[in-house]
Amino acid sequence: MTSNWFVNMAYFIAAIVFIFGLKAMASPVTARKGVVWAGYAMIGATVATFFIPDLHNIGLMVVAIVLGGGVAWYSGKVVKMTDMPQMVAIYNGMGGGAAAGIAAIELVRGVPHDAITSTLLALGAVIGAVAFSGSCVAFAKLQGLMNKAIRLPGQNNINFLLSVVTIGIGLTVAYSAHPSGFEIFLFFVLALALGVILVLPIGGADMPVVISLLNAFTGLAVGFKGFVIGNPALIVAGIVVGASGMLLTQLMAKAMNRPIKNVIFAPITGAAVEGGEAVEGTMRELSAMDAAALMRYGQKVIIVPGYGMAVAGAQHKVWEMSQLLEEAGVEVVFAIHPVAGRMPGHMNVLLAEAGVPYDKIFDLDEINADFAQADVALVIGANDVVNPVARTDKSSPIYGMPILNADMAQNVIVVKRGKGAGYSGIENALFYKDNCRMLYGSAQEAIGEVIQHVKSMEG
Ligand code: NDP
Repeated sequence: MTSNWFVNMAYFIAAIVFIFGLKAMASPVTARKGVVWAGYAMIGATVATFFIPDLHNIGLMVVAIVLGGGVAWYSGKVVKMTDMPQMVAIYNGMGGGAAAGIAAIELVRGVPHDAITSTLLALGAVIGAVAFSGSCVAFAKLQGLMNKAIRLPGQNNINFLLSVVTIGIGLTVAYSAHPSGFEIFLFFVLALALGVILVLPIGGADMPVVISLLNAFTGLAVGFKGFVIGNPALIVAGIVVGASGMLLTQLMAKAMNRPIKNVIFAPITGAAVEGGEAVEGTMRELSAMDAAALMRYGQKVIIVPGYGMAVAGAQHKVWEMSQLLEEAGVEVVFAIHPVAGRMPGHMNVLLAEAGVPYDKIFDLDEINADFAQADVALVIGANDVVNPVARTDKSSPIYGMPILNADMAQNVIVVKRGKGAGYSGIENALFYKDNCRMLYGSAQEAIGEVIQHVKSMEG
């Protein structure tokens, strides 16, 4: 009894710290602290678990913790910033898998539950298994291990049918006093297949939204499992993850102007996209020297970073160039689109890592009106997030997505390697505009050259 009181108290404190940690993660200034707090809370809750009376399999638990912790520690150390989305996907999948595993054990044990608990057991098992297999598919896609999007004929009908059948069998199994091993096995095979089939057709610009949605699923599954096994830490942590994941999914969907139902039922495939008016004209090139001169002798430069800057790891060079320009009296600021890169906050983290002060980094709403006063908008490896067709072309798949108004600057310089389209596979009308020039090259080298020219210019 005493120990249980102690364990529950420890869980309660951990839950409170999770919430404060999450709150701290909302700002780049305190985010690191928030992650560390939440990590300590997780360690505390894990240690407290060992004090539950009559605990079995302690040796196995220790082995699991050491193995899992070791793999996570190592992969966290070596992962590249550009590979973060797939890492988030696979870790998230592990959470869903763990929740589904707990459900499987409960079902095999065959302990009778009341109606609510049985329902939560079945739903948690389906959601956890879907989050697990769906996240594995998302990981494989983002890692380039499989084709971006595979759409089956009658996909939506298959999704619907499989969902109904799986949930039906799940409820039958959870309500039955002694489900057979085969029934439980069939249930999990179907639930795992559902996760695969749901995520297979999704690709392109929708992938990060799906990861966030699967993350919310994992939270829900964990919360439900917490209820089933009577673990308050799991309930709170699961619901916090589920609720924040849902909010994040909605924010991302809103930033892309894509209702969540379209992400699931009418996904962007990531392949070259049909639809949208053909863009006419030619892209014009400029040299690194001309780019340097335009910025060096201008008054205000707004830098728009995108996924290409992350891939090239060019953030340090970009900040070095910005400092040189500032020393020459040019005002330099950064404009961040909410879905620039491959996950929310991707650009903020990279720029902060390079040393860019937070007061130089502005969100879309804060900066969009300023482009009209900028001498230069320097777009580095960004594409979809500055595509003006989102404003004008109703037939375009990204119509309605709020974009950064880079095209309204006096001059636009776009750094990219070639003429390739953006993540969603759409041609960018900005590149063909009269005020736009292309600086071809990988971001790191191209900005490196600009730096050399800025250095050689006199005031
Ligand atoms: P995009 O993926 O649209 O474009 C990136 C550009 O970078 C490409 O056009 C590519 O052109 C260029 N590039 C690639 N490698 C390099 C390199 N080494 N050096 C220079 N340029 C390079 O990126 P954005 O950031 O503009 O857009 C993000 C996309 O992700 C959007 O479609 C958005 O909707 C989607 N998305 C993001 C979410 C998020 O949470 N962040 C959520 C949902 C969707 P080239 O090959 O010619 O070099």
